[in-house]
Amino acid sequence: MAAHQEKKLAQERKHKPTQNDTQTSQVQWGRAWEVDWFSLASILFLLLFAPLIVYYFIMSCDQYQCSLTDPLRDLLTGNKHLSDIWNRTPTLTYRAAGIYSLWVAFQVVLYVFVPDFCHKFLPGYVGGVQEGAVTPAGVVNKYEINGLQAWIITHVLWFANAYYFHFFSPTIIFDNWIPLLWCANILGYAVSTFAMIKGYFFPTNAKDCKFTGNFFYDYMMGIEFNPRIGRWFDFKLFFNGRPGIVAWTLINLSYAAKQQELYGQVTNSMILVNVLQGIYVVDFFWNEAWYLKTIDICHDHFGWYLGWGDCVWLPYLYTLQGLYLVYHPVQLGTANAVGVLMLGLIGYYIFRATNHQKDLFRRTDGNCRIWGKKPEYIECSYMSVDGTKYYSKLMTSGFWGWARHFNYTGDLLGSLAYCLACGFAHILPYFYIIYMTILLTHRCVRDEHRCSSKYGKDWTRYTATVPYRLVPGVF
Ligand code: NDP
Repeated sequence: MAAHQEKKLAQERKHKPTQNDTQTSQVQWGRAWEVDWFSLASILFLLLFAPLIVYYFIMSCDQYQCSLTDPLRDLLTGNKHLSDIWNRTPTLTYRAAGIYSLWVAFQVVLYVFVPDFCHKFLPGYVGGVQEGAVTPAGVVNKYEINGLQAWIITHVLWFANAYYFHFFSPTIIFDNWIPLLWCANILGYAVSTFAMIKGYFFPTNAKDCKFTGNFFYDYMMGIEFNPRIGRWFDFKLFFNGRPGIVAWTLINLSYAAKQQELYGQVTNSMILVNVLQGIYVVDFFWNEAWYLKTIDICHDHFGWYLGWGDCVWLPYLYTLQGLYLVYHPVQLGTANAVGVLMLGLIGYYIFRATNHQKDLFRRTDGNCRIWGKKPEYIECSYMSVDGTKYYSKLMTSGFWGWARHFNYTGDLLGSLAYCLACGFAHILPYFYIIYMTILLTHRCVRDEHRCSSKYGKDWTRYTATVPYRLVPGVF
């Protein structure tokens, strides 16, 4: 609905190209065409080390009670050899392969074959067929938004099994965590490799493909913008949301069940992590149509970064707090628990309200009220590769007048709350806030580079009006 209106408005205002001084730079928006040495070095580093980082964290919990330093100390002092650690690592099992295949197949069925019914009875929820943003080639894709429904069905079945059917133990995910890691890796590499081959030989939209000529960059950052199989199976929407984000809350529930099994109770820190991350996940699916307008869908091409990242990095590293709490069942004092809850809720509020303000502003083309007033904005223009000129607006009031990425600031506060729930005994649960700070700071830079290429001088006017990125007066 929102996307449809946006496209209609864009089409009403679209003009044929005019030769002006910003045209050359404006048609270059979208992902990079050329690879600099720093990007290449970062990509090679991630390709080599990201799988090892995931293994190291999960192995540390399995063999060293989540200590990140003990394995290193053992190796450096010769107390253990790499082979000792590797030999104690659970291998791929038929059981894990079966569970994982069933899991992914079930999510594919929910995604492709069950059209959304939630929007028919949930007031305010935008589901069903929706349109994405205009791609650099000027294409507007349609998506079946049914993630909330997939999440609800999956969780209803999970609870029905846990409390009624007892087909499998709710600790099943924790109990097979490392064998499942091998399955997730197989899928992550398979889908990234398939996406690369597809980009070369049978792309969904050839005009939206980008070839830098560098194999590693293209493999990592992707060639195709919106690879699809058939009309509806969109790789980006499927892999980012399901199996990764639907699994997130199930993984946390499995950790809580393991605590119950091991200690006869679930600690308040585990409940806090489940609740705060649960809110974030449900929010994601409630706003899945909005997600079509985020950088993942509007800017990133589909390669290893998204394919492997969604299958392995996200479910394994975003859930480290719950995993840690299985090994260290922290029970917080009331004041600390309330503090963590408040920080998590404030972070969530800022994150959601900021994203909502932009969504409302864009959906209504500025004809709305933000904090009781008409929004202030800067008019801007850009071009797609076919030379069509579009007009847009950048809001400069509400949270968007405080900082250019205040939604990231809210996200970071929420992320910090999950980590603080785990106490201060170990660094491992703090990986998330460290990672999110790097990710979102890097995103600021990436997004601003994109917007500057897209909007040219208009973007400079905007940054002069809203000078700070994340924290007003500081950065
Ligand atoms: P945004 O939702 O902030 O989208 C950025 C885009 O919004 C810009 O490229 C531009 O696009 C448009 N825009 C920028 N400034 C304005 C303005 N003042 N007025 C109107 N439109 C503007 O960023 P992301 O897609 O990165 O993130 C979305 C959310 O997802 C964030 O809250 C982030 O915290 C979260 N996130 C979470 C991650 C996780 O792993 N947990 C990972 C990444 C993001 P246009 O071309 O349309 O002008």
